[in-house]
Amino acid sequence: MNEFRKDFPILNQEVNGHPLVYLDSAATSQKPVQVLDVVRKYYDFDNANVHRGVHTLGNRATDAYEGAREKIRKFINARSTKEIIYTRGTTTSLNTVASAYGRQNVEEGDEIVITYMEHHSNLIPWQQLAKEKKAVLKYIDLEEDGTISLDTVRKTITPKTKIVAMTMASNVLGTINPVKEVAAIAHENGAIMVVDAAQAAPHMPIDVQDIDCDFLAFSGHKMCGPTGIGVLYGKQELLEKTEPIEFGGEMIDFVDLYDSTWKELPWKFEGGTPNIAGAIGLGAAIDYLTNIGMERIRQHEHELVAYALSEMEKIEGIQIYGPKDPNKRCGLITFNLDGVHPHDLATVLDMRGIAIRAGHHCAQPLMKWLKVSATARASFYLYNNKEDIDALVEGLLAAKEYFNNVFE
Ligand code: PMP
Repeated sequence: MNEFRKDFPILNQEVNGHPLVYLDSAATSQKPVQVLDVVRKYYDFDNANVHRGVHTLGNRATDAYEGAREKIRKFINARSTKEIIYTRGTTTSLNTVASAYGRQNVEEGDEIVITYMEHHSNLIPWQQLAKEKKAVLKYIDLEEDGTISLDTVRKTITPKTKIVAMTMASNVLGTINPVKEVAAIAHENGAIMVVDAAQAAPHMPIDVQDIDCDFLAFSGHKMCGPTGIGVLYGKQELLEKTEPIEFGGEMIDFVDLYDSTWKELPWKFEGGTPNIAGAIGLGAAIDYLTNIGMERIRQHEHELVAYALSEMEKIEGIQIYGPKDPNKRCGLITFNLDGVHPHDLATVLDMRGIAIRAGHHCAQPLMKWLKVSATARASFYLYNNKEDIDALVEGLLAAKEYFNNVFE
């Protein structure tokens, strides 16, 4: 995959006197020139508002904006572009499901089921909904290795459950969850299945019809696309029945003094001038990823994570979180080094040009479950290679020695 590194000019620089080693793609990925060029071309030649212009630029912008929606539909194998709603990102997508579908369908005493490994954006919207509706928020407990057992899922979901929301890949543990099997259990109990695909869509093939989820959310910026654009997939029959929550221009059909009607799907959920350049950029990112092949990207990251696990496990005093088996993981590793605060570790690595994430990763309940306050995380993408992991391991060993000497 080294041939793709040249597409990412940002990687070709020195940071603090060392070649940049970017290991923070789970926070946000870098963008290839193919995406940057498309966004630049849109602003240079086609910039206009969508869905209203009779003029040529307006038509070009609309065609590109709606063309990107079709690329997204194909990317996740949705049945129709009516099921693809543009949002600001995963957070907005999940909040939309909770505030629109959730508020309209959850009642007092109903259950909402999530897991301990959810990102705050797939946790707080459900907390808020549960509080507002006097519903019961239930957590699927994790196995010791940070995976989910379907037996526990079966015990937690009941006929009272209305919504099951789960991440497809954990941004902390790296665990890949059996969302298809969980969706089947949710449906047997009359609940809907919401999938947070923020860490999955960039890294592995996704087929919403195969998973049979009811809603699925992801962000453009983690998959080579721009920031500020994301997707909410929803089954058409559910979206048809759900009232929008944002009102204004673009989303209406007729407006009268005391009543209004909405446009058809997907536009009834897209009030206001959308992020046109973002959507077009996301379409270009999807072209870029599909040209490489999502299976190939998954395989590459699988090899990297297996190599990184085997090398990092050799470091004395390292604690690696999540499943030991690389087959159960996506391309990230969360860890702690004995006696070194993760923020200090990240600072020392940054001095060597290595970018990792440190903190609670927007998953405070999971930190509690892990009995830590913070961790370090290295995450990989298609442009990373074994040399990046060697640099990380060397950096970790140097940091360990440095801190051992300082505090001896
Ligand atoms: N869910 C998961 C699993 C994530 O990793 C993230 C991003 N860290 C989000 C949701 C939120 O995504 P965004 O900030 O793009 O809305």
